[in-house]
Amino acid sequence: MIIAIDLDNVLNNLADFWRRRINQKYGYYVEQSELKNYDMAANFPTLDREQVEEFLNRYDIWRDLTPTNGAQEIVKALNMTDEVYIVTARHGFPQYYPTFVWLRRYFPYIPEKRIIFAQNKEMIRCDVLIDDCPANLVRDDCVTLQYRQPWNSDRVWGTAIVNDWVDVYQKIRAIGGANEETSGISG
Ligand SMILES: [Mg+2]
Repeated sequence: MIIAIDLDNVLNNLADFWRRRINQKYGYYVEQSELKNYDMAANFPTLDREQVEEFLNRYDIWRDLTPTNGAQEIVKALNMTDEVYIVTARHGFPQYYPTFVWLRRYFPYIPEKRIIFAQNKEMIRCDVLIDDCPANLVRDDCVTLQYRQPWNSDRVWGTAIVNDWVDVYQKIRAIGGANEETSGISG
């Protein structure tokens, strides 16, 4: 199977990290659970968009960002049996290089040719997409696993909701098994 995996807030903890930086600089106490909007600026309505988004263009955010629990081990396991691609939207070329360096550091087993920078994810053909963005999850050409986050928990946008990486692994293995049976390629 071709498995396409989103980066921000799926493989990493960007929003958690980002809101801490905003809190620190501007004196807020916004918790991760209070981030009800996918658009970070909408979670801080009293700040300008520029004040919120300036953090994304600073190198230190990509240097300090960490992977989500279990992501490194489970992506590695999936990569041994399936074709794993990382698909991430980036805004502005200055974000490309630190993102690539971050992926090399934490997911060194994903080859360069399996890293795709794309703002139009619907153009990426795959069997399974793991994403947290509601707009990316509404597809009828693949299974979409909705990585649970405060901004998408109001409804089921994807094929199924996943709570963490163990859950991702179990659901993908269940899909793989079902596909093999229906296509007659098992054994
Ligand atoms: Mg994301």
